[in-house]
Amino acid sequence: MHIFYDPQELKKYLTEQSLAQRRIGFVPTMGALHDGHLSLVNQAATENDLAVASIFVNPTQFNKAEDLRRYPREPEKDIVKLRDHSRCSVVFLPKVEHLYPNGEETDRIDLGGIDQGMEGSHRPGHFDGVATVVKRFFEMIRPHRAYFGEKDFQQLAVIRQMTSVLKLPVEVIGHPTERSSEGLALSSRNLLLNKEELDQALLIIKSLRWMQENYRHFLPRELKVKVEKDFAASGLVLEYVEVTDNLCLKPIDDWGVTKDGRAFIAARVSGVRLIDNLSLF
Ligand code: AMP
Repeated sequence: MHIFYDPQELKKYLTEQSLAQRRIGFVPTMGALHDGHLSLVNQAATENDLAVASIFVNPTQFNKAEDLRRYPREPEKDIVKLRDHSRCSVVFLPKVEHLYPNGEETDRIDLGGIDQGMEGSHRPGHFDGVATVVKRFFEMIRPHRAYFGEKDFQQLAVIRQMTSVLKLPVEVIGHPTERSSEGLALSSRNLLLNKEELDQALLIIKSLRWMQENYRHFLPRELKVKVEKDFAASGLVLEYVEVTDNLCLKPIDDWGVTKDGRAFIAARVSGVRLIDNLSLF
């Protein structure tokens, strides 16, 4: 496995690979890697000639300085995990100034409204930061395919929109959410929680599964009210529960208008923000 810190050296290596007709699959991450990340990398390795993973905690996608400060960072462990437990060919660990040579500003990209609502309204500027950093990574790495997790379903939709509006020559591929045996979505932020808090966090997947099992008997707003009540009676702080269609991610009020619904939850457990979602139909 090759390790690059310098974008110029990475570009030189990847240009040689592209000239040799080798297809590049790219997985952007913010590190503190878990099995969800490794499974994206392995999918990239299976479907391409080489899998490139980046590890970069992107400052422009954090709307709260405290959240950025607390974000877990363990690059040495990440390198070992990628080397010993995945089929990663290249890992890239750039510095902030490599991605933001002119300061931490985001690019103006038309995200077509898919960036509004849910994560967009609760984390202002978040998707501008995500779209900017992914676009810049795509320019450096020039991947044939790029892999994103459905755990961040709205992010996946934003990247698809960005790629389409900018006509970028990359195929965006979604990967199902990897979970613990109890169902908790794997997340780097889980590292910030103790055993008791991880148990409490299971309310998120329990609520999503309850909505999936019961949606036929209730209107979307009734599902949401029930989940809000359950969270109010728990130690978790619910940021939002939403039911949307699967394509535009617009909230829906009744099932007649959609053939494909999805439920989303964002909640804080002891101040740590977790998100998850599940297809309902
Ligand atoms: P992050 O490091 O959290 O920015 O995540 C990097 C990539 O891994 C993103 O595309 C995430 O959606 C994806 N990812 C994170 N957690 C999971 C998971 N539990 N299952 C599948 N993909 C995930």
